[in-house]
Amino acid sequence: MELSARQKKIVEIVKENGPITGENIADFLNLTRATLRPDLAILTMAGFLEARPRVGYFYTGKTGAELLTEKIKKIKVHEYVSIPIVVNESVSVYDAITTMFLEDVGTLFVVDGEGLLTGILSRKDLLRASIGQQKLSAIPVHIIMTRMPNIAVCRREDPLFEVAKLLIDRQIDGVPVVRDKEPGLEVVGRITKTTITKAFVELVTDSDQHL
Ligand code: ADP
Repeated sequence: MELSARQKKIVEIVKENGPITGENIADFLNLTRATLRPDLAILTMAGFLEARPRVGYFYTGKTGAELLTEKIKKIKVHEYVSIPIVVNESVSVYDAITTMFLEDVGTLFVVDGEGLLTGILSRKDLLRASIGQQKLSAIPVHIIMTRMPNIAVCRREDPLFEVAKLLIDRQIDGVPVVRDKEPGLEVVGRITKTTITKAFVELVTDSDQHL
């Protein structure tokens, strides 16, 4: 978020004179308190200043970059989670390919009869199986999938940033969002590279709206 010249001036005034009332900041700038109200609201909302009732405004001491980092680290998986597309481990590679096209996703999660996570199928897993000579409708996906316990997962309360790191570290496109369901993990959502891109775009769009 880019601060206006007046907002930068306000930050400087509060830095040097805080705690200071809105009235006194207005005096410094030869403006009315009402004129300053939107600027003070923005600076408080963005975390540059803190307002304490009957005391005034404090400078929080945080730079724009620090505030952005804080904001990013606060985003949780559940704020961006999308619907998971799952297939049973007994379905054929042919049916999995069809599901991938119909559902327009790049990763399918594989579950057993109890609905517990057993594997994951990426586009390349299905491509690899397709370049052999086998009949795709005769091969069950559990033969070719990446299987538990080697699956990277996340949970609803995890920071989205940690999932982004996981995608980079493991060189994968997505992870299932899971919750414990004895004796395994139930798939409750999906986070992919697209999710991260969306969050990235919204961060910028949201902060523009506050200007
Ligand atoms: P693609 O290979 O189609 O580009 P990915 O990069 O997501 O897609 O997948 C690479 C490999 O990693 C595949 O074999 C896939 O089964 C596996 N994989 C995908 N997601 C995960 C995950 N969350 N945990 C473990 N392995 C995964």
